[in-house]
Amino acid sequence: MNWVQERKNLLETMLRLDRLGMVSGSSGNASVKLPAENDKPQLYLISPAGISYDQITADQMVAINHDLESVESTKQAPSSESLLHIAVYDERPDVAAIIHTHSVYASVQAVKAEAIPPIIDEMVVYIGGQIEVSEYGFPGTKELAHNSVMALGDRRAAIIRNHGMFAVADTIKEALRVAELVERVAKIYVHAKISGTVITVPDHAVKAERTMYLKRSGLHGN
Ligand SMILES: [Zn+2]
Repeated sequence: MNWVQERKNLLETMLRLDRLGMVSGSSGNASVKLPAENDKPQLYLISPAGISYDQITADQMVAINHDLESVESTKQAPSSESLLHIAVYDERPDVAAIIHTHSVYASVQAVKAEAIPPIIDEMVVYIGGQIEVSEYGFPGTKELAHNSVMALGDRRAAIIRNHGMFAVADTIKEALRVAELVERVAKIYVHAKISGTVITVPDHAVKAERTMYLKRSGLHGN
């Protein structure tokens, strides 16, 4: 079996998302960009479609090419949201891992189609600023993939309207950290809004934290 460590890391990530209640049934998925081999096309490892978390194993992770074709003999189909993953990798060369969840508080914002403003300092430093909500796209389509990429911009997470959220990073460990942070921030925002007025991080601090974010992530944006 190829890419043993990558499979193991992906499985551990999926199981942790399940333990945290950020996914359920067979919903949610994760992928990594596989290490580049000289002159060979880029490959990706992605979680399988339709396998519940109590059944999932490392060897069920599916290695695919850019056209979503499996490159090994496997019974498993790649995640039904594979188009989303490939679209993000195409647009963001700095990204090497993606996690997509249907976590509850992020989904509350997804059904309200309401972005989460910068309310916590670390959110700007690690996610890059406000968490935007995409335009609606039907699950599994290029439209959903395109709209999600648009909402992501140069940040590390976005909410998918009427659906869930996704987080990106240069490693799967870091993507998990970002995904957990998004859910925590969404939870804080939902509770804060119910209980009173929400005060955002002051503009000058957001600006300074954005600069920190861009420096850390090696991005040079505005
Ligand atoms: Zn989904």
